[in-house]
Amino acid sequence: MTTLLTFPKGGIHPPESKELTAAKKIEVMPVPAELEIILSQHIGAPCKPTVEKKAEVGEGAVIGDVVKGLGVPLHSPAAGKIKAISSSVHPLKLNAPSITITVNPEAAPLHYEKKEWRDIDPKELLGKLKDAGVIGIGGAGFPTHVKLSPPSNSPVDTLVVNAAECEPYITADHRQMVEHSAEIIEGCKVILRILGISNCLIGVESNKPNAFQALSETAANTAESDFKIEVRALQVKYPQGSEKQLIQAVTGRKVPGYALPSAVGVVVQNVSTAKAIYDAVVLEKPLYEKVITVSGKGIQRPANLLVKMGTRISDIVDYLGGIKPELKKIVLGGPMMGFAVSSLDIPITKTTSSVLFLSEDEIDTAPHSQCIRCGWCLEACPMGLEPKEIGLFVEANHAEETERFGVFECFECGSCAYVCPAKRPLVQFVRLAKMKAKRK
Ligand code: SF4
Ligand code: SF4
Repeated sequence: MTTLLTFPKGGIHPPESKELTAAKKIEVMPVPAELEIILSQHIGAPCKPTVEKKAEVGEGAVIGDVVKGLGVPLHSPAAGKIKAISSSVHPLKLNAPSITITVNPEAAPLHYEKKEWRDIDPKELLGKLKDAGVIGIGGAGFPTHVKLSPPSNSPVDTLVVNAAECEPYITADHRQMVEHSAEIIEGCKVILRILGISNCLIGVESNKPNAFQALSETAANTAESDFKIEVRALQVKYPQGSEKQLIQAVTGRKVPGYALPSAVGVVVQNVSTAKAIYDAVVLEKPLYEKVITVSGKGIQRPANLLVKMGTRISDIVDYLGGIKPELKKIVLGGPMMGFAVSSLDIPITKTTSSVLFLSEDEIDTAPHSQCIRCGWCLEACPMGLEPKEIGLFVEANHAEETERFGVFECFECGSCAYVCPAKRPLVQFVRLAKMKAKRK
């Protein structure tokens, strides 16, 4: 690796805590007896079931589809029988409509053969992504076929691939890069073909030297004149994986406030989404399973697992030997942007990156106090916002006035709260301010 790139403003370096799983190969978890597939897995309209109770379904069969608005279909992760169309515990809502499948343990898993894609029209490639249910699996779950159709008045010249994986603990993308670099690089070529461009920059943090090497070597060994794919090494800094910070780190271009990456000629895709795009186009395999990290000192056997969508956390816990007595908190997602959950009944969705089982010494339980106006939160904010002012206005019941401090530019990375010596719940203040400002 040569010079390490990064974004210029703010950011933090929390303990990486990746050593529990970074060297652990992706393990295929056996399919549990039941799968609960939540019908709302992405931004946009939830799917409506396209199957009825008691229907037999095959692996990869469509079981739900969007009837209006933005969205993609949902596929059965395994062969089985529809047990129920009801509701499940949702990671963010109290519960959500879902389909429960009793898995047929006798059914042989499907095998997908590679198909040639280079003669396929870009519009048809986009259709394949939609049909395969591909969404951005590294973030909020934006349908990929929509994200790869930028507005015609913002011409795109560069694909930036987010391989930073800057959240502590999570190593799922890291393992995908080490073990599936060929599929990822080919997935990047599919994206470039769809966008009609040749430039691709992949940003990898320097704490993953074997991932950097695997991607660099694969890109060099499979070089083609139509595609210019370059892997760039990044400093280890949080939140390097957020779109605006990553774009600035790898291209030097600054996305203006409230604008999309296409405003500076860029489209960003997560590295594991590139793998899902390969699966959808080259293998014609729908997105119904994903690699997640299960980590923390509160689980018996931390691991990187390939799991079917709809696998319940309780099944993962059983498979990994149970929880340890020191468990204090379960977090879905990373410790910075994830959220605590209290039920093991929650099923894995397309956007689940990790499940963390944290012990007392891995979490911060100190009570919060008054702001001492130290300014550390301003220094840490990568967007140059004033989190302390937002917090003070929310406490004074003037949340609707926080727009002038750029509250809607905050993407809730938690850097400000992490450095605050008074342990103020600055992200919660921001969320409250956004809710109240929207109601104004
Ligand atoms: S949570 Fe928002 S205000 Fe706090 S550091 Fe991140 S972007 Fe800035
Ligand atoms: S870091 Fe905390 S205590 Fe310091 S100014 Fe910000 S909110 Fe106040």
